[in-house]
Amino acid sequence: MKELAEILLTEEEIARRVQELGAEITRDYQGKELMVIGILKGALPFMADLIRQIKVPLRYDLMAVSSYGDSTRTSGAVQILKDLEMGLEGQHVLVVEDIIDTGLTLKYLLSNLQTRRPASLKVCTLLDKPSRREVEITPEYNGFVIPDRFVVGYGLDYAERFRELPMIGVLKPEVYTGK
Ligand code: 5GP
Repeated sequence: MKELAEILLTEEEIARRVQELGAEITRDYQGKELMVIGILKGALPFMADLIRQIKVPLRYDLMAVSSYGDSTRTSGAVQILKDLEMGLEGQHVLVVEDIIDTGLTLKYLLSNLQTRRPASLKVCTLLDKPSRREVEITPEYNGFVIPDRFVVGYGLDYAERFRELPMIGVLKPEVYTGK
């Protein structure tokens, strides 16, 4: 990919880790049914691959939230652009995210989902940037801890581009500056 300055995770590394996460989740939810909640748009490729590695019966639903602007940043309030179609009461819910950065989006989401009275509520994120955390959130399942770099690919975008890349990498500076 000519726009990438550096590849952080190859397609093979991602696939191997997704398989491991699927196996771990399968073990933990043995005998239960799962409700997987994918957070659009970034988590789509990850969720699609992950659900095929989970060997317990599951249903999935999708939710879209706006990222906060500067004014909402301190409150951590995010807007729900698309809500779930299914109720969560009594369900074992696993939220699937692309990346946890400050943690503000997820914190808001979790408190919102908790009000729907699930039997359990856990988080599986592909990427985690713990150095940027502003609120205390520790995902139960975590694909990769990455340094504080802005990454794209495998669902993650820059201005809606690069989501389709099979790998995860860092963009060349000229992509941002347009030179
Ligand atoms: P948080 O609320 O944890 O700060 O932000 C989470 C959201 O910010 C992610 O779902 C993602 O949309 C965006 N984000 C955070 N870090 C990155 C990154 O390195 N690359 C991209 N493409 N998006 C990011």
